[in-house]
Formats: sequence, structure tokens, C-alpha cells
Amino acid sequence: MVKPFVPELVYVEPKALEYSLGKELISKFEKMGIEIRETTSHNHIRNLPGENHFQQYRVAKSTLVVGLRKTLKFDTSKPSAEYAIPLATGCMGHCHYCYLQTTMGSKPYIRTYVNVEEVLEKAEQYMQERAPEITRFEASCTSDIVGIDHLTHSLKRAIEYFGESDLGRLRFVTKFAHVDHLLDAKHNGRTRFRFSINADYVIKYFEPGTSKLDDRLEAARKVAEAGYPLGFIVAPIYLHEGWKEGYKVMFEKLEALLPRHATKDLTFEFIQHRFTKPAKKTIEKNYPMTKLELDEAKRKPKWGKYGIWKYVYTNEEQEDMKQTLGDYLNYYFPEAKFEYFT
Ligand code: SF4
Repeated sequence: MVKPFVPELVYVEPKALEYSLGKELISKFEKMGIEIRETTSHNHIRNLPGENHFQQYRVAKSTLVVGLRKTLKFDTSKPSAEYAIPLATGCMGHCHYCYLQTTMGSKPYIRTYVNVEEVLEKAEQYMQERAPEITRFEASCTSDIVGIDHLTHSLKRAIEYFGESDLGRLRFVTKFAHVDHLLDAKHNGRTRFRFSINADYVIKYFEPGTSKLDDRLEAARKVAEAGYPLGFIVAPIYLHEGWKEGYKVMFEKLEALLPRHATKDLTFEFIQHRFTKPAKKTIEKNYPMTKLELDEAKRKPKWGKYGIWKYVYTNEEQEDMKQTLGDYLNYYFPEAKFEYFT
């Protein structure tokens, strides 16, 4: 089992020490014997240990910056939520296709924001503006928030905040199984806890540093027992030898584990693998040995909303995926809600 994340190096912004969470975290890391450095702003972090890009990238992925969220303007997060709620940025995982490699560029370290109450106050403002409509917040747009929350408990705080709010709903997705501290959170059914799952082969070769499928499924079972509304994102759906069998086994295992009551309010999202040319370049730099298929000639170009071509599977392959996974879904979880394939 992948161990819960512990940073190898910590940076702290002085202002973070004015917040109780900041003080608590730094004292915890001191006791753990972790090296702590000061920085006026994460933007000034230079000279991470390591002799080349490859090494520095790996050090950065195990470096945690304890700081403040300065911009309190939330990004939109359509279609699954109205807003992205910023609790952290970055991730310790090493998924070869991770979108954070392009969005975070030269700053792949992890940042946690200790001014959680200010972030929640801003969320409250957004909710009031839309009242009496419900406002949904997505907490995993810029990080795998569950993966670091055993250290910070800021997600837990947010879950309980929305648990008391009539106007807000929270959702997030994770590839980590370290959920125990979230099981007793007073969520009131207002947080949808989603797991990103995949065939064993895909997790084994392309998602190092994250929890294995069996561990994610076991975590999902516990989350279901704790009464959270549950969801699964099968992503990225990746064609590999034996993929039909691989995804079938994934559904079978899931069905065998989940308690009956959880299968009634269950959502599924299906996302096929895609890449862009800049992403391909970054992947080849960060994971030069990857087995990931990134041949434009084998894919269909699709004009993306960010003004850049992305390479998706051919129409035929997409149909095959939709049909195959759709059949499994209907067979194993006839009551689940299928949200989209993209
Ligand atoms: Fe990226 Fe998610 Fe993998 Fe973390 S777990 S590296 S956020 S894809």
C-alpha cells in the first residue's frame, strides 16, 4: 500500500505562521525532523536540490509549501460544479498523463493554504449571490486534495462547512486511499466523494505514487459506509492489450465490494485518454521511460476549448469504449447515474 504522503522538504511563508493551521503544521513537521525553509513567497523558491530537471522535478513533487491563498477569486468549474474551491495546489503523485504538469509548469511543488476560513468565507459570498440556487464547489481542480489532507485536514473542515450549509455542495475526486480521517466528518450528505479508478494495468504503468486499485476500492467502501454520496471517474480510459477484460475486472471488484445502499446514489463519469502537443513534450521530459502511447498519427485531432488541438481516440475506438464500458455499467450498476463520456 502506498504510504500517506510526508514531505521531504517544507517551505513556509512567514504570514502563514499568523494562522493556527500554519503554526500547527510547522510544529508538526519540526517534530517529524523535516527540513523547513522560509520563503517570502512560493514564487521565490529557487535552487531545489537536484542536479538536473529530472531530479529537481522529483524533489519538487515531495516539497510542501505552507502558505496563503492570495487570490480569493474562484475559477469556474463547469460542467460538474459552478466554482473551483482552492484548498491546495499540486500533487505528490506521478501519473504520467497528469494535467498539472502543464498547468503548473516550472512550479510542481505542493502548496497548502492555511487561510481556509477566508476561502470558505469567499465561498459563502458566491453562494449568497446565487441564492436560492444551490452552488456546487469542486475541490480537486488543482490538486489531489485527499492525498495531502491527512496532514492538513482543510478538506475535512470544508466538508463540515458545507455539511451545515443549505446552499452549497462540495465534490472532489481522488486517486488516494487515505480517507480514514474523513470518515467521521459531519458531511450531511452534501459532499460527493469521487474516486478516480482504472484498470490495474493502467494504474500499474502510468500512475506511480498513487494508491492501487484495490486500495482505492476499499477506501470507497469505507466512504460509502460513512454515508457519503459516492461517485467514480473512470479516467483516463486507455486502450491497451486486454483492456476489455481489465475494465471488466475493475467493475466486478467494485460491485463485489460496495454495500447495496451505496449503489442507489452513485455517479459515473467516463473520460478517454487525450493529449496535446505541449503536454506530450512535458511528459517526455518528466517521464522519459513512459510506455504511454502518444502518437498523433494514431489519434483523432479535436479542437479544444483552450485554443489548442488535442488528440483523442478515433471515432471507432470511442464507440467501442462507450459500448464496452456502458454495457459493464448497466450490468453491474443498473441504478447508477451515468453522467458523461468525453
Ligand atoms: Fe495528477 Fe491526480 Fe495523479 Fe496527482 S493523482 S499526479 S493530481 S493525476
